[in-house]
Amino acid sequence: MSAPNPQGADVVVVGAGLSGLTTVYNMIDSRSVAKIRNVYVIEASSKVGGRLRSTQTCGSRPASSSFGRSRAATIANNTPKVDLGGTWSWSTDKALRKLARDLDIDTLEQPWQGKVCGSSGAQREAKFGESPAGPGAVRFLDGGAAQIPSRLVTEIEELRAGNKVKWVMNASVDSIKRVDGDILRVTLSTGDSVDVLCVVLTCPPLAMSKIEMRPPLPPNRLHAMRTCQTWMGDVLKFAVVFEEKFWESAGLSGYGNSRDVTTWDASDCQTFAIAGFAKPAGKDETEEEVEERLKSALCGMFGSKAEAGVYEWADWSRENINAVRAEEEAGEQLHLEYGHQLLRAQHMDRIVFAGTETEAENGHMEGALLSGKRAANEAHAILMRVQMKNMDAQGNVYRK
Ligand SMILES: Cc1cc2nc3c(=O)[nH]c(=O)nc-3n(C[C@H](O)[C@H](O)[C@H](O)COP(=O)(O)OP(=O)(O)OC[C@H]3O[C@@H](n4cnc5c(N)ncnc54)[C@H](O)[C@@H]3O)c2cc1C
Repeated sequence: MSAPNPQGADVVVVGAGLSGLTTVYNMIDSRSVAKIRNVYVIEASSKVGGRLRSTQTCGSRPASSSFGRSRAATIANNTPKVDLGGTWSWSTDKALRKLARDLDIDTLEQPWQGKVCGSSGAQREAKFGESPAGPGAVRFLDGGAAQIPSRLVTEIEELRAGNKVKWVMNASVDSIKRVDGDILRVTLSTGDSVDVLCVVLTCPPLAMSKIEMRPPLPPNRLHAMRTCQTWMGDVLKFAVVFEEKFWESAGLSGYGNSRDVTTWDASDCQTFAIAGFAKPAGKDETEEEVEERLKSALCGMFGSKAEAGVYEWADWSRENINAVRAEEEAGEQLHLEYGHQLLRAQHMDRIVFAGTETEAENGHMEGALLSGKRAANEAHAILMRVQMKNMDAQGNVYRK
């Protein structure tokens, strides 16, 4: 990719999680005034979705990781899918509920009726709306929240001008340097580079702080990013798929709260499942040991039938790509001041900062969507500014 496009690109979006995909989705809207030739999406991992992921794989991926290819291939997969990352939407999530409607994704109120299990076989009747998500929370039906990124990719590819979008997977952005007045050079871990007018960063602030910038970010901004806790970056989330909903026939809600795990009913129309949070794996703990630990906790709450499920989990504390091991690396007090100006103000008038932690919405999907929308607007304004500057007397835009 040393010279992927002699003219470079208009915008590079760093990260293909919900924020990055929303940025692209909003940016290539045909109603936009600034004319966009192309957008590169650079994603460090092999899949879109970031912190949205389900059991038995996740959604869709671009067909090629090289520049110049833009079609996305949806992975056909009829196996049950239960979220291992973001799951619930709350009634205040206006943007998320609207997106789900636009994408034809139905919701299901988190069931809570029945008994709540505690440690050592203790049980009690659930109170109104009781679940780790609280009253009124909904889940996304038949595929969970992890289907949102793959649907967005399909939308971007098919319904909107997909040929403008180039996907580059398995490549992380290492540096962004100003090379002349309008141009930024973005260099990837593969050694390739692309020249652009605008960069939108959508990875967690800690990951952003590791990208070398020239001119550099001021020290107070770097510190704020490096010490920003990546939301849910330190949990292990598991899902267990069963052939029958044995807990329901025993009068149990699926909600359990023991010393070792917190669980809830994660079933939908296609799947019988229990999901939950547990402690991340210990340094020397093997996968088998993690599975044994989870099985033992679930059998303690729901009985021996819990042994028979298919166990899967995502240990987010081990996801280096999302740079979630903040505590270890920073060795400093972490903060949750999401939406702080130090996390979101533009740099060099060309770099836009998005990602859920740049909005005040608690690190939730709603924040990711709001940040993507804001980032698209900011990127448009930057492009408009450059285009106006480079307009000749007849109103034609010329490019360097
Ligand atoms: C276990 C768990 C449970 C959650 N539960 C809920 C919930 O119930 N409800 C809710 O609303 N939210 C929940 N969330 C939060 C929600 O998932 C996030 O808010 C949202 O997915 C964040 O999206 P994002 O695009 O901002 O960041 P991310 O999803 O982290 O995306 C960032 C992307 O950037 C990529 N990247 C990182 N560094 C680089 C680099 N240098 N170059 C290129 N790419 C890079 C990463 O690989 C990643 O794909 C949960 C999260 C987790 C982990």
